[in-house]
Amino acid sequence: MTALLEVDRAVKRFGGISAVNDLSFKVEAGESLGLIGPNGAGKTTVFSLIMGEHRLNSGAIRLNGTDISALPTYERIKRGVARTYQVPRPFSEINVAENIRVGLMPDSLRLMLTEGPDPDAELELARSVGFGPADLERKPSQLSMGDLRKLELARTLATAPQIILLDEVFAGLTVGEIAQISDLIARKRAEGMTFVIVSHDLRSLQPLIDRAVVMTFGQVIAEGSFESVMSDEKVRAAYLGH
Ligand code: ATP
Repeated sequence: MTALLEVDRAVKRFGGISAVNDLSFKVEAGESLGLIGPNGAGKTTVFSLIMGEHRLNSGAIRLNGTDISALPTYERIKRGVARTYQVPRPFSEINVAENIRVGLMPDSLRLMLTEGPDPDAELELARSVGFGPADLERKPSQLSMGDLRKLELARTLATAPQIILLDEVFAGLTVGEIAQISDLIARKRAEGMTFVIVSHDLRSLQPLIDRAVVMTFGQVIAEGSFESVMSDEKVRAAYLGH
């Protein structure tokens, strides 16, 4: 069976640094994969390569078997890949509804030009991540980190993705916010969404993933169930420092 996403022998160098070094992994449709590893392992660079925000030095990124590694980012988004950022990046001058609208645009630009934005679609997406109608008018500067992460999720969902890449999705959140975001991810998983999730918070990550890939120095050192990779000697040495 063709994987939904395949990273195949990816190499990315920044000057003398090999951020990603002959890295391969696959994600099946409907699967939730945890991508873990210590600081500087190359996890964020992998996301940037999948989105086309960085270009590969060699290797390939395939979506449903098609090599997308030469495509610009907006083409990859149209084909169904979406990501969030470690530090949320909303458009700060516009409100929650308008930020969600930006995500809706690539698919419905023609409709928007002829019929204007669809407030129902915005409200529905906002509601699906836990915002109420009053939240739509709020500016990003008025949002907590938990709400900013919800907004990022709503923006990715607005692009009708096949796969969502979540970068440090629990960073900066309170215990209550972690529970809310976890519920949201669990709900989307139950609906069949495919995820790759990067998190240092392994305790919160574990219930949300089917499988883990562990990387250090741009390479995969272990992959399998969460329990099996955590008991792997190489992982313990590299990740836990003993
Ligand atoms: P963290 O969890 O700390 O974000 P990470 O696993 O996401 O780490 P990356 O941010 O992908 O790791 O970084 C991997 C390596 O590549 C690091 O050594 C980093 O300094 C380097 N790097 C990443 N982006 C760039 C860039 N744009 N220019 C130069 N070096 C970079």
